[in-house]
Amino acid sequence: MRTLQHFINGEFTSSTQGQSFDKRSPVDNRVIASVAEAGEAEVDAAVTAARRALQGDWARLGTDKRVAMLHAVADEITRRFDDFVEAEEADTGQPHHVIAHAFVPRGAANFKIFADVVKNVPAESFQMETPDGRGALNYAIRKPKGVIAVVCPWNAPFLLMTWKVGPALACGNTVVVKPSEETPLSATLLGEVMNTVGVPPGVYNVVHGFGPGAAGEFLTRHDGVDAITFTGETRTGTAIMKAAADGIRDVSFELGGKNAGIVFADADFDAAVDGIFRSAFMNTGQVCLGTERVYVERPLFDRFVQALKLRCEAVKYGRPSDPGANYGPLISQEHRRKVLSYYERAVAEGATLVTGGGVPPMPAELADGAWVQPTLWTGLPETASVVREEIFGPCCHVRPFDSEDEVVVLANANRYGLSTTLWTRDLARAHRMAAAIEVGITWVNSWFLRDLRTPFGGSKQSGIGREGGVHSLEFYTDLRNVCIKL
Ligand code: NAD
Repeated sequence: MRTLQHFINGEFTSSTQGQSFDKRSPVDNRVIASVAEAGEAEVDAAVTAARRALQGDWARLGTDKRVAMLHAVADEITRRFDDFVEAEEADTGQPHHVIAHAFVPRGAANFKIFADVVKNVPAESFQMETPDGRGALNYAIRKPKGVIAVVCPWNAPFLLMTWKVGPALACGNTVVVKPSEETPLSATLLGEVMNTVGVPPGVYNVVHGFGPGAAGEFLTRHDGVDAITFTGETRTGTAIMKAAADGIRDVSFELGGKNAGIVFADADFDAAVDGIFRSAFMNTGQVCLGTERVYVERPLFDRFVQALKLRCEAVKYGRPSDPGANYGPLISQEHRRKVLSYYERAVAEGATLVTGGGVPPMPAELADGAWVQPTLWTGLPETASVVREEIFGPCCHVRPFDSEDEVVVLANANRYGLSTTLWTRDLARAHRMAAAIEVGITWVNSWFLRDLRTPFGGSKQSGIGREGGVHSLEFYTDLRNVCIKL
């Protein structure tokens, strides 16, 4: 069993009062780590270290050396690839191929991409006329925003954390990361990488612990924090926004979703089944961009539901180390209770259960894990809670539709607006729909595919702000104007 400490000012430290909590494996519920739990003293020490580094060695380094250092961080992550894969597998229980091919490589890429963005960003300038004919030159400079609090979820821990830490550091800020209490490993491991590469102490700090009334709240309320980037539930975003109001601190929020998948009768059938299956069930449905509402044009409906059912019933449960397994558990027993409560509610609300709906039979050594079956329903009204609320599990409701206008209304009738996946061969329709659907990203004949230079974020209650490429600079830098009379 591991013992995990905070990473503050370049050193691994326990809590002063010795508080800790247990991290359990999602696969079999065994305790796999004892994790230090931060109180106000540890959070304060981390923020103080981050402030000191901000004005010290990190600021003196200059852009070129900082960028080179972030490339070195990415290279060191790649060199320790197996350690990061092992950490993410232990924390999340997800299949090896998802972690090794998607989540960890993106973690390394997040450092390189933003280092390159910062190096190549052009400066805005204007020459203006003045009454004396001499004119003036205005130009904008970007400065780091300061100490950034990075509050993270558990569903793709390393990818989502580095997606924030990469641009924050590239822009010259320092960070205090609060990983999810469910996934403390990879953020801790990244501390070792920072020390190996020689990133100055205090630039990257990690405090472990819980949210309300604990490390998360202490961090987001701390007056030494200049801005907060948060990924997680919309409800938590509301609490953090209130904390940020004290001191008028900026926020960037990536929040929940209840995303629609839309399949027209002219779609490539096999590609659409495959795409919708992946979008609903990858990572055991624990993807903010995942599909929990599927709308299929009526002529295709029965065939589509049957094809999706077969795919659900063919999943192979197992540990990440099992080469035959392609389907992992939910993150925790607590999350399983939530998902199973929606499984019960769906039936109570009148759903037709197509497949799943419960806990799969598992061998004795995995019986205590957070396993649930991939689940499909049909027949619910759009007012059902299972169709309206984010479940964040491996399940979706499938409903037929008859026209483009109808399905746009259905897709938009939700408080969230994160993403949509749309399947059709009619490109004119795809363009029309993409403009009409109220989401941050529309995928056409694809899902989970994105050039990291493009803007990413949620509309409506799915987020505030856009990150990605130069868009990240809007949040992580303070843009100032200089006006020189010539
Ligand atoms: P969560 O909101 O429960 O927790 C996220 C983090 O916030 C954790 O580190 C938690 O300890 C902390 N926290 C909780 N309450 C807090 C408080 N009052 N003050 C400060 N910190 C607090 O979310 P989760 O269950 O970890 O993640 C799942 C959610 O994240 C889903 O809703 C999912 O859609 C969303 N998500 C969104 C995106 C996106 O890009 N939009 C990406 C991934 C996950």
